[in-house]
Amino acid sequence: MSDKSVIRLQDVTFAYGEGDSLISVLDGVNFEVTAGQRTALLGRSGSGKSTLMNILAGLLMPEQGSVVWHGRDITSLSDAKRVALRRETIGVVYQFHHLLPEFSAEENVMLPAMLAGQTPTESKRIAHNLLSQVGLDHRVTHRPGELSGGERQRVAIARALAGNPSVLLMDEPTGNLDETTADQVLSMLIELSKSTGTSLVIVTHDRRVASQTDQQFELHRGQLQAVS
Ligand code: ADP
Ligand code: MG
Repeated sequence: MSDKSVIRLQDVTFAYGEGDSLISVLDGVNFEVTAGQRTALLGRSGSGKSTLMNILAGLLMPEQGSVVWHGRDITSLSDAKRVALRRETIGVVYQFHHLLPEFSAEENVMLPAMLAGQTPTESKRIAHNLLSQVGLDHRVTHRPGELSGGERQRVAIARALAGNPSVLLMDEPTGNLDETTADQVLSMLIELSKSTGTSLVIVTHDRRVASQTDQQFELHRGQLQAVS
């Protein structure tokens, strides 16, 4: 294992259901993300990409195999320890923003910083800094309902970074946006990843997006294959 290993999966298997209705989704997956590395995850609908992302995020436990964050196998940790470790390791952005509708952009981004133990003043500073980095200085007091789709996704990215995670996991983060907006959000994301040193794992159907990452894998019949 590399010293710079952030997440590593070893021989991970996963299935939904049981007996006759068993759906085997992952069948011996090995995968590693190192510090600052950007990875694209490709695969047809139903190939198990979201399942794999939930396993990387520690939200689903594999049937067999290990999930290692910074050298610690999380499958043997208590739920409480895993939740605490997830806060400093993992940031997640979904296809739909999942922002809290009653809170402003600033407040949405402040929350993870406060959960990570920052004071309200410091959390506010972090939120402003991140919202500025995603180009939303002028929208800090807006609620999600007052923002465009692209702006909401940028707030979701700022929020995911507010706990200063080692890796950002993104499941089709721009799947809900038009092509131009998606391109803008993704270029911004790659720049942010470079400036902060945060690793990225992006599930995408877009080969152009994939071409901007350091490594590309395709999930097929439960196995991860490197795409050349
Ligand atoms: P992808 O994100 O690549 O589209 P998913 O990981 O969502 O794929 O799903 C992989 C397979 O597992 C699909 O066949 C899907 O129908 C099935 N599946 C996903 N979630 C569940 C669930 N909660 N229960 C049963 N089967 C599921
Ligand atoms: Mg999916």
